[in-house]
Amino acid sequence: MSDKVLDLLHKAELRITKSRREVLETLVQSGDQAISSNDIEHLVRGIDRITLYRILKTFEESGLIHSVADGTGKTKYALCSHECNGGEHHDDHLHFYCRICETTTCLEKVQLPPVRLPSDYLVEEKRFVIAGVCKDCH
Ligand SMILES: [Zn+2]
Ligand SMILES: [Zn+2]
Ligand SMILES: [Zn+2]
Repeated sequence: MSDKVLDLLHKAELRITKSRREVLETLVQSGDQAISSNDIEHLVRGIDRITLYRILKTFEESGLIHSVADGTGKTKYALCSHECNGGEHHDDHLHFYCRICETTTCLEKVQLPPVRLPSDYLVEEKRFVIAGVCKDCH
């Protein structure tokens, strides 16, 4: 168990449980690659789906992880940068989906341009994904 996991849970002011630690450890290890709840379920032994769902929701609300809709129909999750906290997310970076290895990567260095909508439109989520071939498959 890495110190980073405990540190993140501590900063998010979340009670530390075995399941939370294990789920967060999995997300830390996957780094800038977004993973689905199915993937996490396989990696964290013995976790049930409802517990996992609740943990992911809590993490997202605490600004630890963000969800990514990459067009595959599965919601994926990735660790946030340290600027996200208290439910306020600043994950305005590009997500890249590789059609060969089927991974989705956070490209934190590629910031999305601000989008201005007419004033009577309310943004609820941003889905900005580019698909293609990643650096490992190139
Ligand atoms: Zn975030
Ligand atoms: Zn690839
Ligand atoms: Zn991301």
